[in-house]
Amino acid sequence: MVATVAIVGRPNVGKSTLFNRLVGKKLALVDDRPGVTRDRREGEAQLGDLTFTVVDTAGLEEADADSLTGRMRAQTEAALVAADVILFVIDVRSGITPSDRQFADLVRKSGKPVVLLANKAEGRSGLEASYEAFTLGLGDPVPISAEHGEGTSDLYDALAAHL
Ligand code: GDP
Ligand code: MG
Repeated sequence: MVATVAIVGRPNVGKSTLFNRLVGKKLALVDDRPGVTRDRREGEAQLGDLTFTVVDTAGLEEADADSLTGRMRAQTEAALVAADVILFVIDVRSGITPSDRQFADLVRKSGKPVVLLANKAEGRSGLEASYEAFTLGLGDPVPISAEHGEGTSDLYDALAAHL
């Protein structure tokens, strides 16, 4: 059976950029504005000799902050339930935010295997945030750049350990 890998994290960390890179097509909308991915999207991903179904999760843009939190949480929880492995993405350029910690709590509670991805780390930028990311309690952060395709072999190793 093909495993399902869910990409989870707060808006604007680069989830859709990573999703598009993994499926090799621009199926997900990438945008600077937080919360532009409206739908949950699925695609077939290929990474080295690994083949899996990858799920991008949305940040839903709503005027009402409470409903945003509720719907984002519900969608994330549904993706966590369906996933065999979680890719939890943070943005090393902005550092760890309270929202990252809320999402990390959901991920930890799911009990699913998780790979912590420290994105936007091109050219070794954001090493400090990478260290800070240890405090999320989700293991060793794997620095990547979804946009520039860096860290792919480390991502492969981390995923292969769970698939
Ligand atoms: P999402 O909301 O988590 O799906 O994030 P997106 O994939 O839509 O990306 C949000 C913004 O971060 C966009 O402007 C992307 O171009 C940018 N971004 C994504 N990955 C990287 C990266 O590796 N490095 C840098 N510098 N920017 C990135
Ligand atoms: Mg997105």
